[in-house]
Amino acid sequence: MFTADSHCDTLWALKKGNDLSTLMVNRQKMELGGMGMHTFALFTGSKGTNGTAYQDGIDMLACKDRLGIELYTERLPDKIPEGPFGVISIEGGEALEGNMDRLYEFYALAGIRMIALTWNFENEIGYPAKLGSKPGLKPFGLRLLKEMDKLGIYADVSHLNEAGFWDICENMNLPPIASHSNNRELCDVPRNLYKAQIKAIIEKKGYIGINFYTAFLTKADKSNLGDVLRHIDSIYELGGEDVLGFGSDFDGIDSWPEGLYDSSCFPALIDALLRHGYSEQAVSKMAGGNLWRLLKRGDALRSYDK
Ligand SMILES: [Zn+2]
Repeated sequence: MFTADSHCDTLWALKKGNDLSTLMVNRQKMELGGMGMHTFALFTGSKGTNGTAYQDGIDMLACKDRLGIELYTERLPDKIPEGPFGVISIEGGEALEGNMDRLYEFYALAGIRMIALTWNFENEIGYPAKLGSKPGLKPFGLRLLKEMDKLGIYADVSHLNEAGFWDICENMNLPPIASHSNNRELCDVPRNLYKAQIKAIIEKKGYIGINFYTAFLTKADKSNLGDVLRHIDSIYELGGEDVLGFGSDFDGIDSWPEGLYDSSCFPALIDALLRHGYSEQAVSKMAGGNLWRLLKRGDALRSYDK
């Protein structure tokens, strides 16, 4: 079964100097678990606008060949590739420095598929959920949505505040993606989504990648596969079969569900979903089908004429 993940911080961990063999995502672990695809984030939001986000993104991108995994920075193949592969995203719109040319630069260099408009700080685009629900996107953010629509780049609402979320719903053709967020009703932290947001994502046929970070799954100190299932169930029950997926946050988290500790572990989650009573067809959508469909939709909007 094709299995895909919408968010990991492996390129950031590599840039920090970590040894690839020690990371949660690498080719060997992907092959061990039959993992199809990871979305590798250029995590550039850690210092807000006070840092060197653009250069950090460029430096992280320079680490991509060290992954030893085929990365699709141009057109996706018609059929899902057999072996492990990846695509690239941005986490932290600071990387654009409020300059639209930077969007086109990252698009050309990395074929960026989605951008988490903020991390946990205010930036040129908008405000994070961590600082409250308002205000909405800034003028540059609103202009950015139009350009992202043209390039088939999704707005990733994980980390973004509510007002920003609704601005995306109102002003963008492409549906919102929450690459690594859970259901706030089950675990009330700013990084998770309210029911109204989940419903809007379902209505727009967007995407929600379930985050494996213990603190976003439960208020308890430890988590397990049952916690992941609870979040999936709750979104599925709202009609989420076509928007659910996995957003591991691997290589960016320090606590995870028992038995779900790296890229080789996805089969355990898939087995749990099947044993839990989901049909093969539903699991196949959640495991990767939904994310692939969205990536292909974005890809179809792109012009690859050089
Ligand atoms: Zn994140």
